Amino acid sequence: MKYYSTNRQSPIVDFKQATIAGQAPDKGLYFPETIPQVDAAMIKNITSYSNEEIAFRVIKPYTGNTIADEQLFQIVSETVNFPIPLVKVNDTISSLELYHGPTLAFKDVGARFMSRCLEHFVNNNSGTVTVLVATSGDTGGAVANGFYGVEGVEVVILYPSGKVSPVQEKQLTTLGKNIKALEVDGTFDDCQKMVKQAFMDKDINDKLFLTSANSINVARWLPQQFYYFFAYKQWTDKNNPPVISVPSGNFGNICAGILAMQSGLPVQHFIAASNANDIVTEYLLSQKLIPKQAVATLSNAMDVGNPSNFVRILEIFRHQFPALKSKLSSYSITDEETIATIKTVYEKENYVLDPHGAVGFLSLERYLQSHPRQKGIVLETAHPVKFPDAVESCIGKPIDIPVSVQTIMKKEKMSILIKADYGQLKEYLLQ
Ligand SMILES: *Cc1c(COP(=O)(O)O)cnc(C)c1O
Repeated sequence: MKYYSTNRQSPIVDFKQATIAGQAPDKGLYFPETIPQVDAAMIKNITSYSNEEIAFRVIKPYTGNTIADEQLFQIVSETVNFPIPLVKVNDTISSLELYHGPTLAFKDVGARFMSRCLEHFVNNNSGTVTVLVATSGDTGGAVANGFYGVEGVEVVILYPSGKVSPVQEKQLTTLGKNIKALEVDGTFDDCQKMVKQAFMDKDINDKLFLTSANSINVARWLPQQFYYFFAYKQWTDKNNPPVISVPSGNFGNICAGILAMQSGLPVQHFIAASNANDIVTEYLLSQKLIPKQAVATLSNAMDVGNPSNFVRILEIFRHQFPALKSKLSSYSITDEETIATIKTVYEKENYVLDPHGAVGFLSLERYLQSHPRQKGIVLETAHPVKFPDAVESCIGKPIDIPVSVQTIMKKEKMSILIKADYGQLKEYLLQ
């Protein structure tokens, strides 16, 4: 499999080159030259396949000959070694709980796969790679955990001091070894600006091999297809495929789902569930994609004003608006509606949603109201315990804290405090 840049001004590359580079030199996103079709027999008999087998078969065409079969199987086995259950919430809606991984958010899948691919590629080259990433919360934890102890990879994470939740902060700062956390006295935007500057700095690039681990990397994006297949495996009404609602921010997750559908996974329809950041909801009405300044909401991992992966969705549908619109709907949900949804779903169904899942749930309900014969799945992208303030005030009681979180909260935070000043980051990286 070869990958081209969505800006079409960069050379064609293979999976290894795309993974190491992250973004194409022309600032476009890498996209596969063809969309491979999954074996129809696997879809028909999907319940007889293990998750590892499904994952291997889905990803193999994308990695091509850059990773040997045995190693690839090992990588996918380690990627999906935690439960991803489909839980019935009521008669029409089930929740795909993507939060049983080590950092309690769906990003674990992509981060675990990418880190192991990078380890494989770096070992082949016997050099050291520095992964530099800015986080507003969930990405940092997933990347830290995914790369922890990975040979040949140093990880430097920048996060805004006081602006991530206590659980998220501990997930970033307690690992040690090859994971370094820089606590920036500033905002997420400051962190991101500093990271971008480092990627363009000649002094740094002369000394270090820098790469990024954000969601535009193909090795983080493509493995997110796996759990759409796992959802279908657990879907009982195979004659009536599900509508799937995806809480969306940068649109990498939903884009992977749409890719899975184009590869042959039965899906009725996709819902892009958005909070007040409604760029795509507006696009589906006006056919115009107008980036906006992001606004802060309760579902903060979706506070994105210019979703970078949306271009890949356009690419999948070959920029044909009618085709896209026939498979994708979108709703924009307010914080008040998010809170009301967490409350009602807890009271009526005894099921605890996190704010992101709540945005997905209400969007799905809205769609199903006008499509009464269909049933759906909402992707629960994070564990409610990651957002205790919002969730506990809705359900009126403390959330059960998983053992992994209890353990991590007792560990000591290790971070290096720096100013929102590029000079300080540079000095740190060059030392
Ligand atoms: C990152 C994240 C999202 C948004 O996912 P995208 O792939 O960026 O659309 C949604 N929910 C949670 C909990 C997240 O961490």
